[in-house]
Amino acid sequence: MPTDNNIHPIFERLLSREDKEKRLGQRAKVLWLTGLSGSGKSTIAQDLERQLYNAGYFPQVLDGDNIRVGINNNLGFSIEDRTENIRRIAEVAKLYLNSGIITLCSFISPTKEIRNFARSIIGPENFIEVFINTPLEVCEARDVKGLYKKARAGEIKGFTGIDSPYEAPKNPDIEILTADKTVEESSQQILDQLNPLIKLG
Ligand code: ADP
Repeated sequence: MPTDNNIHPIFERLLSREDKEKRLGQRAKVLWLTGLSGSGKSTIAQDLERQLYNAGYFPQVLDGDNIRVGINNNLGFSIEDRTENIRRIAEVAKLYLNSGIITLCSFISPTKEIRNFARSIIGPENFIEVFINTPLEVCEARDVKGLYKKARAGEIKGFTGIDSPYEAPKNPDIEILTADKTVEESSQQILDQLNPLIKLG
């Protein structure tokens, strides 16, 4: 990264995150949902966003596919591109965070290294790792987007859980076992753990 590049960030002249949190009546956090494709990350993030909004909070979802058709539409699935994908997402999440927003990130983020990278950009005190723990067999049976079928047929290479590894988090802040829960029960469990962290004052 260039050091002397005539870039002069103006952070100290901007309104602070605390000013914005006060306006929004919440403490900002980044919830980082990790899990296999089809584990339920997007569904839970969307349900959580609605529930937080209805409870008077100001949340925003950042979702894998949305980001890949927009800001990251030049990236593929090589190791380098996956890392750059997560770096940009984490930087965007940090911008939301510093705007006082409760940010729900829904990305497979398959390795410990990649999640630690996101955590280091966002700041460990702001980062809540949520493991959406759904067995591969259940994800594959759901096959929401038909991707497992394609991966098994060899039409998609490097698919997480099939021919690319998923390293389950060892000590997630929150873990949701979705296989025997409804979507509402899953988000409620997250909300119960999240509430004390986002309440102001
Ligand atoms: P991901 O974003 O992890 O790829 P999706 O949210 O797109 O996964 O798909 C998960 C699918 O599993 C959805 O069809 C959802 O309705 C279903 N599902 C069943 N039970 C649950 C649960 N407890 N939590 C989340 N999703 C669930």
